[in-house]
Amino acid sequence: MSSGAPARTGGRTGSTGTTDYVALARELAPRFAERAAAHDADSSFPHENLAELVASGYTAMTVPKEHGGAGASLAELCRAQRILAAGCASTAFSVNMHVHGLAMIANLGGESTARACRQVAEGAVIAGGFSEPGVGGNWWHPTTKAEPVEGGYVLNGRKGFFTGFPGATHLFLSAATTDDRGLPQPMAFLIPKPERGVRVTAEWDAAGMRATGSHSLALEDLFVDEESSIGERGTLPLLFMNGVHWAWCSFASCFVGIARGALEHVVATQRKRVISVIGKPNAHLPGIQFRVAEMATKLATAEAYLEAAIHADHENVDPLGHYIDMSVMKFTVTRLAHEVVTLAMQVQGGSGLASADPLQRMYRDVVAGLLVPPAGDVVLEWAGKQALDVPLFAEPRWAG
Ligand SMILES: Cc1cc2nc3c(=O)[nH]c(=O)nc-3n(C[C@H](O)[C@H](O)[C@H](O)COP(=O)(O)OP(=O)(O)OC[C@H]3O[C@@H](n4cnc5c(N)ncnc54)[C@H](O)[C@@H]3O)c2cc1C
Repeated sequence: MSSGAPARTGGRTGSTGTTDYVALARELAPRFAERAAAHDADSSFPHENLAELVASGYTAMTVPKEHGGAGASLAELCRAQRILAAGCASTAFSVNMHVHGLAMIANLGGESTARACRQVAEGAVIAGGFSEPGVGGNWWHPTTKAEPVEGGYVLNGRKGFFTGFPGATHLFLSAATTDDRGLPQPMAFLIPKPERGVRVTAEWDAAGMRATGSHSLALEDLFVDEESSIGERGTLPLLFMNGVHWAWCSFASCFVGIARGALEHVVATQRKRVISVIGKPNAHLPGIQFRVAEMATKLATAEAYLEAAIHADHENVDPLGHYIDMSVMKFTVTRLAHEVVTLAMQVQGGSGLASADPLQRMYRDVVAGLLVPPAGDVVLEWAGKQALDVPLFAEPRWAG
């Protein structure tokens, strides 16, 4: 990790003297967009983009004011992330793990929060690993074991996807210890990226989000000290429930950003492209007009739903109901974003599949929105049971 506060090389300072992160995203996104095709082609991690995000102070945006940071609001974070994602979805998604991860830690409060904020203010970058091959996205049941030892824990297990791992200085991860009755106590830890105890078992080589470095890892006798625990034993579900708006609103923002980028891209193309049979730009064709209108409508619906979730009351709420509300929003918004980009391919025609057209990358990237947590079927099960007043956690899950 870097040793001191990073030099601020860019950014926009608003009237209050604080950084305007939305303006900063607008400044950075075009450069990231220029580099996106090359990183996508060879599945390389955009280290230079991350360096700019750290140097400009973007990565410190969610350090709360009481810890000397900017304390950017959820609305500001989401607006900025949408702009970055329209330029380079992989970069936006990677840094998203960091900015929303820190916000969730900060939301928990306590000594571990103060430490994490200090580290990020000094230039630390966090990647988070909660999903596991054995449990998929059901990450409140980690199979990674945390065995208590003097001064800390020894972790053993596997992490399926660790977005941003190549650029991270710190790892935010889950494991479970057991209590006196033998029941699992899911925990979270924030540790400096270790030299030993973490092995990359598979480098990220995927159809979409290719520049995220979402490697698979094995944790092998990884010692973590007591201090690196985030909250108490068993805190993991609370961490997710109370901070879920930071997670799902920022996730949804990345995919809405891709959809907005796709709409703007096809509109610009179809206004210029002329087909000889009509002797005018394609924009004059009814099919193009109808599909662009459908895209715009779906996008407006997604953006409005996301905005409503961003501005909803996140404090005076029933935690489980809040979790379900945010999850249903993320499920719906990412589906709409996927539909928008699918329509964009139809508008663009065959050239949209050519590697020279950024639309094919957006099409591959936006699919990830459907796959990242929360698991779609679990969201529908919980929302359906809640609506029908069926107990959520009764066993067996489905009677009859
Ligand atoms: C590009 C990308 C980046 C990612 N980055 C990260 C990261 O940085 N950190 C991280 O922790 N994870 C990350 N993930 C993993 C992600 O968080 C999900 O947890 C993971 O994709 C889900 O696991 P899985 O794919 O093995 O599917 P599973 O969770 O096994 O789901 C497979 C299917 O089963 C359904 N299903 C799952 N559980 C249940 C259940 N209990 N009841 C009914 N149906 C169920 C799902 O809806 C889905 O249809 C990333 C994923 C992607 C695609």
